[in-house]
Amino acid sequence: MEYIHHLYIDGWRKLEKMDIEKFIELKEKYMTCTKCPELVEYRTQVVFGSGNPKSKILFLGEAAGANEDRQGIPFCGMSGKVLNELLESVALSREDIFITNTILCRPPNNRNPKKEEMNNCGDRLSKLISIMKPRVIVTIGNFATGRILGKTGITSLRGNVFPLRIAGVEVSVVPVVHPASYLYSGRNPEMFKQMSSDFKVIADIVKGKKEQAQLGDF
Ligand code: URA
Repeated sequence: MEYIHHLYIDGWRKLEKMDIEKFIELKEKYMTCTKCPELVEYRTQVVFGSGNPKSKILFLGEAAGANEDRQGIPFCGMSGKVLNELLESVALSREDIFITNTILCRPPNNRNPKKEEMNNCGDRLSKLISIMKPRVIVTIGNFATGRILGKTGITSLRGNVFPLRIAGVEVSVVPVVHPASYLYSGRNPEMFKQMSSDFKVIADIVKGKKEQAQLGDF
């Protein structure tokens, strides 16, 4: 596999050469973004995303934490390890997905991203979706789910499939519980089982095996 920064160019879906160029352009543009003065002041670096930009599966977390800010890779700390275990449980890996956050910079003291920051970073997310054209967007936790679906309540939304048109792309949105919640639970095995079954939903959509629910039902 050929690596450019944290992205894989050989994947299991073809992106047109133009799209890869657009992807790289987008990354370069946002790696030096200065739209949010407070985030610029406190960040070590912009955490654009990692994985396979040709993937059909786009994972969306909340924001970088301390580890991510230091290493420049989303979900590279404890939550990331849980995420890897969940992917493995359905025979997927980080190379089969692309992962990013609702905002690209670490908020000081891990505070929630502000509305203005999410709006500033929203164009980047829409652009990413229009370039990648993912089939599935997995929203990790309440924050990312609220951002994409406009609804929270991860306990009832999790593992359901919501068809949505975002940035001109028809996607299935699947909310999942944030791995941090599993860590807070003291690694409750029942919770892991439930989370793994939600990841199976994601794997099944990609394999064309899953029907969609309607957002209006929730
Ligand atoms: N939690 C998130 O939501 N995103 C990360 O990148 C890491 C932890």
